[in-house]
Amino acid sequence: MRLPRFDYLEPANLEETLDLLSTHRDDVKILAGGTDLLVRMKKGLLKPKKLISLKALDELSYIKEENGVIKIGSRTSLSDIIHSNLIQKKAEALFQACEKIGAVTIQHCRGTIGGNILQDNRCHHYNQSEFHRSGRQACHKDGGKICYARDEADRCNSTCQSDGATALMAIGANLTLAQKGGERTVDLDNFYTTDGIMPFAMESHELLKEIAIPIQGAKSAYKRLAYRSAIDYPIVCAGVLLKPSDTDKNKIADARIVVGAMGRAPLFLAKASSSLKGKNLTDKDAFKNAADISMNSAAPFAVHNVGATLEYRCDMVFEMVFQALEQAAIAVKK
Ligand SMILES: Cc1cc2nc3c(=O)[nH]c(=O)nc-3n(C[C@H](O)[C@H](O)[C@H](O)COP(=O)(O)OP(=O)(O)OC[C@H]3O[C@@H](n4cnc5c(N)ncnc54)[C@H](O)[C@@H]3O)c2cc1C
Ligand code: SF4
Repeated sequence: MRLPRFDYLEPANLEETLDLLSTHRDDVKILAGGTDLLVRMKKGLLKPKKLISLKALDELSYIKEENGVIKIGSRTSLSDIIHSNLIQKKAEALFQACEKIGAVTIQHCRGTIGGNILQDNRCHHYNQSEFHRSGRQACHKDGGKICYARDEADRCNSTCQSDGATALMAIGANLTLAQKGGERTVDLDNFYTTDGIMPFAMESHELLKEIAIPIQGAKSAYKRLAYRSAIDYPIVCAGVLLKPSDTDKNKIADARIVVGAMGRAPLFLAKASSSLKGKNLTDKDAFKNAADISMNSAAPFAVHNVGATLEYRCDMVFEMVFQALEQAAIAVKK
């Protein structure tokens, strides 16, 4: 498989990058590590006229703590995140998620956290070679009017399989999006559309600049299931956050449960999360109940498009959420 032709642009700094994005808009794509983008281009899923490389933008590569917030530049490598003491100690779920992404080669050589969040949704009916796809009628995402993953679907239900996004949503991250002349901040919870073709609520002239994580005196954990232990995407995953009460460290004051690889976006499960408020950190029945609610809440969003049967993936939501809750509870008690 060969890459289609494109112009390669290498701006020297953020300002130049935003100028280029503003000029070329829908004709360009940002190239960070390229481990998602170039694979899609080779498969003929995307043919941008120009690529804007972030190679020279060291200013977007950092991890720091400022005023109770962890700030990560979007071009920071997955490897830098994995090796950061700050992330290991205060954003455990993100550390655990990044450790699982792809393989050491993807983490160390190229993959960035920005590219991880913004990798395209996937579907095994669609993420195939041009030759494979030419043998059947086009689906919504390929410009047609049908969906192979859900009968009579009026839109694309391709699945978000980003480990990083699921973990970051669980720990309450928000994103700074920059464009020529301004910036805006959006909670990851509100960053997704309801269409797998354009999954992100972001304009083509915007650039993901920074990811911010509030330090909440809480502990988090991340669990995922994939066919292989490396070089594979999750077929279901869960990120959780447990915040103990200020007055009684054994009681849960607040919780967040997010399930990934089960829908067009990571799913923040409000009912399951709130079921844990006021419960004891050692209350296994409460964790089982939250995992059960998570399974029932996530099931309607999933379609058969990332491997494994739907029934199995739904059952595994229970397991991933329960295991992540147990792990976060142990971390709180330490
Ligand atoms: C074999 C294999 C296994 C993989 N396994 C996993 C896995 O287990 N879990 C997982 O989550 N991912 C997996 N991936 C996907 C991918 O490698 C990672 O998500 C990686 O972190 C993507 O980062 P990147 O810098 O290479 O992104 P790129 O490919 O450079 O970019 C991805 C997308 O984001 C856009 N983009 C990137 N940065 C910005 C920015 N700052 N502003 C605006 N747009 C931007 C690009 O235009 C592109 O559309 C796998 C990929 C491969 C090839
Ligand atoms: S979910 Fe349906 S429309 Fe979307 S890529 Fe898969 S088959 Fe195509």
